Amino acid sequence: MAGEQKPQPILINRQIVRTKGRKPKIWYILKCNNCAKFFKRGKQQKFCSLSCSSSYRNKHRTGIKHPFFGKKLSESHKQKISSSNLGKYRKRWDDIGYHQKHIRMKRAKPKPDKCDVCGMPYVKLNMVNIDHKYSENSDDWIWACYSCHKRKDIKLEQGAK
Ligand SMILES: [Zn+2]
Ligand SMILES: [Zn+2]
Repeated sequence: MAGEQKPQPILINRQIVRTKGRKPKIWYILKCNNCAKFFKRGKQQKFCSLSCSSSYRNKHRTGIKHPFFGKKLSESHKQKISSSNLGKYRKRWDDIGYHQKHIRMKRAKPKPDKCDVCGMPYVKLNMVNIDHKYSENSDDWIWACYSCHKRKDIKLEQGAK
């Protein structure tokens, strides 16, 4: 915008302090560009404080003035962010417990309206891991009714012996 300019020191008054044997000292009375408070400095400044200077900068740093404007995050940078977030906000599969794995797999694999094994509709279904390795692969997980789940577990236990 044409009306928007860089902030300038707003000089209200000048005080000259003369001390015998010394160079006269000039004090400037200025108005802060951010909070409009008056302040006194030995040199002409635009803001009364550092926090006013940074909050003014933040307020006026929009659109093309914003440091990220027109810049795109590179793919590798994006991946870095998502992989670092993965450890922070979303635990890795190997770090979560039995229960969490079931919950996460339920989200990944929506519940069907019939048993994945016997095809019986309208039965209570449980998320079952077919080989009890609890891998992250959704193909290793099925929705099974109570009797199929029981049968599968029995089979697994027999096979393990
Ligand atoms: Zn201020
Ligand atoms: Zn079944």
